[in-house]
Amino acid sequence: MAKIIDGRAIAEKVYVDLRREIADLKARSLTPGLAVVLVGDDPASRAYVRSKDKMSRELGLHSVKIELPESTTQTELLARVQELNREPAIHGILVQSPPPEQINEAEIVRALDPRKDVDGFHPENVAKLALDDPSGFVPCTPLGVQRLLIESKIDISGAHVVLLGRSMIVGKPLALLLMQKRQGADATVTVVHSRSRNLAEMTRSADILIAAIGRANFVKAEHVRDGAVVVDVGINRVDNAKSERGYRLVGDVDFAEVSEKAAAITPVPGGVGPMTIAMLMANTVKACRQQSSR
Ligand code: NAP
Repeated sequence: MAKIIDGRAIAEKVYVDLRREIADLKARSLTPGLAVVLVGDDPASRAYVRSKDKMSRELGLHSVKIELPESTTQTELLARVQELNREPAIHGILVQSPPPEQINEAEIVRALDPRKDVDGFHPENVAKLALDDPSGFVPCTPLGVQRLLIESKIDISGAHVVLLGRSMIVGKPLALLLMQKRQGADATVTVVHSRSRNLAEMTRSADILIAAIGRANFVKAEHVRDGAVVVDVGINRVDNAKSERGYRLVGDVDFAEVSEKAAAITPVPGGVGPMTIAMLMANTVKACRQQSSR
């Protein structure tokens, strides 16, 4: 049976360090400020925004939640982003994805001040990640996965990491991050996606297998080498009449099967999810530090 990697406990450890850092900043009359913008009323997005705001407040950050109607135009949203770019009490800005269809998300991301882009999606931050420049912001989920592995004492250096999924939010930035030439990285990375041939053969060659595809229970025992480390980024809703909400959350990995074969595995929920939010907080604190040292 695999060791279960407890994302909640590791996130708590991150918060202990962050609380200390925030206290130091406050002693210099600086309070990290995070603005989260929600357009429309998608229930899942609303829940994400609520938990980000809650965590910011718990840590004593200056948290601003901006809720805009579903009918918000591109021009109106751009104007709000530009206002936040100019607001000195705000160090980090996040526009919750996905916005309604009339919004051009890529243009909104490009309009963010890259120094406040705590989600790490602005082209300047993507370039910094590719260039191994640590002054940029790395997207929160990839950063959280790396931190989970480091805190779990899993040796990334020289390991063969196979990533299932190549999205701009998870797979691609995580590939760039883990192949960086530095401590906590230096992996040999293979990225597998929906067009890849011999998928199971590739995933079986992984020392560390990371699944981020959005397909419930896709990864089976046959995809995993004995003794591999398996990280499950997926969050999928499956119908469940027994649950109060009518659904339950499962990952991209068939936990029951794979945990019999892997050396270590992250659960869903309670694995990568809590780390994503912890890294958003860490990026906001970093943004405050950087902006105050100019
Ligand atoms: P996405 O944008 O839909 O990308 C999915 C990727 O998986 C694509 O690269 C796609 O390949 C690949 N893929 C899909 N089906 C496949 C298959 N059958 N075989 C091989 N590759 C396949 O998804 P995402 O935004 O990266 O999210 C992935 C999952 O992670 C979702 O469940 C999401 O909810 C979850 N997530 C969790 C967190 C967290 O905090 N834990 C954060 C973000 C996302 P192509 O490129 O060829 O289409």
